[in-house]
This record gives sequence, C-alpha cells and structure tokens, in this order.
Amino acid sequence: MTSELKHHWQPAEKQRHAIAGPLPGGKQHNEGERLDTLCGRQVVAAASNELNWLWPTCDACMNVAKERVGATA
Ligand SMILES: [Zn+2]
Repeated sequence: MTSELKHHWQPAEKQRHAIAGPLPGGKQHNEGERLDTLCGRQVVAAASNELNWLWPTCDACMNVAKERVGATA
C-alpha cells in the first residue's frame, strides 16, 4: 500500500469521474475547471458539494481506477 493517491474523484457533468494523480495541493477543484478523466473524456468540474457527490459514479472511470490500484476483479 502507498499513501500516494493514484487518482481522485470529482463530480462533473452529472457523474463522479476519476482524475489521475493526487488532488493538486490537496484542495478541491474549482467549479468550471477543465479536467481529463480516467475514462478519457475532458469534463468541466462541478462544484464539490454534498448534492453533487450523490451523482452516480462513472463506470468507465471506476474500471480504470480499479486497474490502477491493482484490483484484478
Ligand atoms: Zn469517467
């Protein structure tokens, strides 16, 4: 196990997408920031609030994220 984050999650465009690497500076992304997701899309970050975190997780991002952390299933 490593404490270094391989990716982090960000609500964007009505889904929670994974973004490669640790959260820059440990802070949240700003609303409107353009981000490249693990599923290969470029999305516009939504505000990080409780409501947006309830959006469904992007399946494609989840699959890539699992691979990145070494899950085999
Ligand atoms: Zn995604």
